[in-house]
Amino acid sequence: LVEAIGVEKSFGSNHVLTGVNFTVCRGEVSCIIGPSGSGKSTFLRTINGLETADGGSLVVDGEQVGYRLQGDRYHAWNDREWAQFRSGIGMVFQRFNLYGHMDAIENVAASLIHVKRMSRTKAHERAQEELDRVGLGEHMYKKPHQLSGGQQQRVAIARALAMDPKLMLFDEPTSALDPELVDEVLETMRSLAQGGMTMIVVTHEIGFAREVGDTLSFFDRGTVLEQGTPDAVISDPNSVRTRAFLERVR
Ligand code: ATP
Ligand code: MG
Repeated sequence: LVEAIGVEKSFGSNHVLTGVNFTVCRGEVSCIIGPSGSGKSTFLRTINGLETADGGSLVVDGEQVGYRLQGDRYHAWNDREWAQFRSGIGMVFQRFNLYGHMDAIENVAASLIHVKRMSRTKAHERAQEELDRVGLGEHMYKKPHQLSGGQQQRVAIARALAMDPKLMLFDEPTSALDPELVDEVLETMRSLAQGGMTMIVVTHEIGFAREVGDTLSFFDRGTVLEQGTPDAVISDPNSVRTRAFLERVR
């Protein structure tokens, strides 16, 4: 579903992605670990079009991201094509990014109304289904400040799911949570994975990566140093840098 070959990205003179090779197949859960500043978030943002790569090739669901083939030439996407592409990919951030003045159901319904042009009634029905699915049916009419961090993060997941994404990206979804709230969010993600969702998860939860991940990639200085099954990467890392990193987070 996602194939990155030699993806590069610079911010000014800061060469952040130095050639990322990375693959996720449909229905797979791919976890990413790596030191701070190694480019994990930038790579996720490139996959959903919040950043544009400036080198290499990135194909998502059969499309060369940012370009359409017309005749024998590539043309850059227009705003509408970018918007269409982005709406097919769900993203959940470390900070929950909910609208503070809206209750949970309105948070989930907002994009359905404004992006998918659903009626308010239909959008609320759908939002309710998604909130039920993440176990928050009873909390639909609460504002973010009336919910725990774990519940807020589950609202953020429900909001992304309501858009029927073909791919879900998670950027350290549990690292801003109190330890006792981490499990409920991981549980929600685990059941999503079991339902067949394709997911890319940047996380320091090695246990989750090992149990739920089909692959584990180690990012270092803007590149993927290794990608393999979690067991292989964790118990027998190829590189000294992966080994050193795993010893620190374990
Ligand atoms: P962390 O584990 O701390 O989240 P990360 O692996 O996600 O780190 P990134 O956030 O991708 O790392 O950042 C990689 C580098 O890119 C950093 O040096 C950062 O300062 C730089 N960077 C990221 N986004 C931007 C931006 N919008 N403008 C300029 N520099 C940026
Ligand atoms: Mg990051």
